[in-house]
Amino acid sequence: MKEKAVKAYSIPINAPNDLINAYFEAKKKALKEIFSHIVYSQRGKVHLNFKKEDRRNLRSKLLKDWTYSKHYIDSAINSVIGLVKGWIKLYNRGKAKSRPEITKKTVYIKNTLFSYKNGILKISIEPRRRYLEVNLMKHEYLPKDFNSIGGLLLTENKLIITFKKNVKSIEPKGWASFDVNLTNITALINGKIVRYDLKQLYHIHRVYEKKRRRIQKFSKNKPKTAKKLMQKYSKREKNRAKDFMHKLTTKIAEELSEIESGAILENLKNIKSRVLCKSRNLNRKLSKWNARQFQFMLKYKLKWLGLPVKYVNPKNSSKTCPVCQATLVAYRGRLMKCKKCEFTMDRDVVAVLNLQMWGSGVTPKALIAHLRAMMGKRLIDQNSHLSIKVYQP
Ligand SMILES: [Zn+2]
Repeated sequence: MKEKAVKAYSIPINAPNDLINAYFEAKKKALKEIFSHIVYSQRGKVHLNFKKEDRRNLRSKLLKDWTYSKHYIDSAINSVIGLVKGWIKLYNRGKAKSRPEITKKTVYIKNTLFSYKNGILKISIEPRRRYLEVNLMKHEYLPKDFNSIGGLLLTENKLIITFKKNVKSIEPKGWASFDVNLTNITALINGKIVRYDLKQLYHIHRVYEKKRRRIQKFSKNKPKTAKKLMQKYSKREKNRAKDFMHKLTTKIAEELSEIESGAILENLKNIKSRVLCKSRNLNRKLSKWNARQFQFMLKYKLKWLGLPVKYVNPKNSSKTCPVCQATLVAYRGRLMKCKKCEFTMDRDVVAVLNLQMWGSGVTPKALIAHLRAMMGKRLIDQNSHLSIKVYQP
């Protein structure tokens, strides 16, 4: 089966700020015009009455002093229509708080505005006069194995490029399962328990949390400075955390590709605050962030390689005995013990064993027997029977 996979990357550029500003103003004007075509029904609902003719009029109005390529105006109008339609949906559900606004200085560049040849991306700024040329070969981390480039997004300092690839789906030889926690990701890959350490990621968040607290202390006296600093630090924190997750998921995707394995992930829609008993709000937020980011990145990287991803309802995944399906109870530290057959195991390992059995329909019997034998001897260190892979980017 053939499928299309996408990957988005951003590269730093010297952006044409005059175009970005002009586009921003054009979008504001378009919003004002399009919003005036909103009709309120007697029942308090709204809809958009913006006809082809209205669009033509708006287009020629916006093109009056426009020196840049004309397609930018079309994309500005489309994006504003999208924005207004999104707002209408919210409004009709009673969820729109205020009128829509143009806040971001981003330019969507559709494929009629650029060409790609021999590694050079050539973006039209002014027709037949001015171009923005970007040499993609200069950026080593960009994918080389793509078939085409989708739309581009231009901001004041970077260009976001969407790469597209036609992939052939691989029938997986096995399934790996993953359980994402606050300070580690536990996995069952090719019959082996692997643990990826997230302490470094946790540390990144803690460092910035401390900085935020320090800023909060003087935010009353200097609110503007505080706000600026806050934004700066959140951005850095996000970038560093994302960078960590990117490296980790790239590595895991490569590992799975070598053994042609699919991935079984927890369906996050079913997740409750199972991850943390200590219910510290920040920690809960962080483990949620970890899980979402990890799944999102791993999924598109595996898709790019033609490997499938399955989602399993994680309910009771760390409370069900993988041997006899009876209920496990908390035993010591992170250990869980079966009331019926006395199987005792680290709760994250229990979770990946169950996720894999439920998702693939296959019981990793040899592994369970092995873990059981190890435990029969004596449980001194709860991790001694695991092969711990400490991941350090
Ligand atoms: Zn049991």
